[in-house]
Amino acid sequence: MKATAHDFKNAASKALKDDNLRQALHRVETGFAGNRAAAISRLPEFHDLRDEGVAIKMHVLDHLDYYLERFEQKVIETGGQVHWCTTPKEARDTILELCRSVDAKTCTKGKSMIAEEIALNPFLEENGVLPIETDLGEYIIQLADEPPSHIIGPAVHKTKDQISDLFFEHHQKYGKTERQSDGRMLVNEAREILRQKYIDADVGITGANFLIAETGSTVIVTNEGNGDLTQSLPKMHIVIASLEKVIPTMEDASTILRLLARSATGQEFSVYTTFSTGPRRDDDLDGPGSFHVVLLDNGRSKLAGSEDRELLRCIRCGACMNHCPVYHAVGGHAYGWVYPGPIGAALDPHFIGIEEARHLPNASTFCGRCEDVCPMRIPLPSILRRWRERAFESNVTPPAERFGVGAWAWLAKHPAFYRVGTRLAVRGLSLLGGRRKRIAKLPLAGGWTATRDLPAPAGQTFQDQWRRQRGRSA
Ligand code: SF4
Repeated sequence: MKATAHDFKNAASKALKDDNLRQALHRVETGFAGNRAAAISRLPEFHDLRDEGVAIKMHVLDHLDYYLERFEQKVIETGGQVHWCTTPKEARDTILELCRSVDAKTCTKGKSMIAEEIALNPFLEENGVLPIETDLGEYIIQLADEPPSHIIGPAVHKTKDQISDLFFEHHQKYGKTERQSDGRMLVNEAREILRQKYIDADVGITGANFLIAETGSTVIVTNEGNGDLTQSLPKMHIVIASLEKVIPTMEDASTILRLLARSATGQEFSVYTTFSTGPRRDDDLDGPGSFHVVLLDNGRSKLAGSEDRELLRCIRCGACMNHCPVYHAVGGHAYGWVYPGPIGAALDPHFIGIEEARHLPNASTFCGRCEDVCPMRIPLPSILRRWRERAFESNVTPPAERFGVGAWAWLAKHPAFYRVGTRLAVRGLSLLGGRRKRIAKLPLAGGWTATRDLPAPAGQTFQDQWRRQRGRSA
């Protein structure tokens, strides 16, 4: 996927004016977050499970090479093959070569963020293998020719009417000439069309939520069962996964699975949890003839040794974006790369560089909700703060902002000047607020006052109020 993160400000500004997007994002804010809270209230040990999940992931990060090699050994023992890929290009080339080895013309695909990361679909299409997304959300955005806007709800930015229009436009060639507006009918129409695609596909490509080292199994969770059909009907099953998805045991998978669906959608468990271990055996009724795992590094082994390594604990549940006021306002596309929301703002600069992603660490109010809800307790605000420091130190921050931050730092280090400066500012702003106590226009605050008034300060600085309330004179 081509990065457009440098254009975050423009994209966010456009998103704020998009009424359809406002309507669609309201569902994220109310639906996912409310369901999560209800699910967690029914599981008293949820926070203990979080600690266990964190411990499992940290243990893996400390012994990543050991568990990856163990995983590979088990995959080979069960008849499969692991392909180690350092870069997105290597991963794309490997997948294409595998597809060509079975003369594939089409492949079905389950939802995979790694496939987005390596821009797999356009590459396969350019090289004569037509990829067909089978997750309903992914199918919708494939028709719309858009990237996903959420890691668990790729089409969450679309309203039902927009989906209805898309299906009407693209499904007429299948004889579907009636425009459907009922949600159930839309789902049935997509299901009917996808059925034949599963049967025709030569290769099935899925992602993986986990790679289990003790058995060589890969695990996916879905709510539609599309992953099962994708991987069991074609001749070949290719799993694309990144290194940090490996965990030691089945028992560990069951611990983290108890966190995943609750944090993501508020379900106790996703409808389907599918374990794949090698290709079809002689006495199996179905399954693929060959099984391949494409393991992507793309900078993760370096990240594992850095101070931001906790990012590799992410289980892609989406809870951080479901609770983020910035994501609620601008949606996922504004972030301009594969991973949106707080996890994207913290992770994307590692992949596309801080220069391209310079606005993302600032796309946060630092309210801390992302860290509060993250099942893996990833300290997202601290990581975002580090990115702001790195941007400042490497001169990526624009000169005006650097000057402002520099002036603020100087004031903060000189308490007497700070006190005088803040008193003057508070008094000046109080006067500007007048009787309404609201400021309609203010130099350097045009971004705020363009759409709303700035409340005038109450009349005293915090420090003055603190002293007064403690009975001391200022
Ligand atoms: S950072 Fe945490 S909350 Fe966000 S997607 Fe990853 S695991 Fe979920």
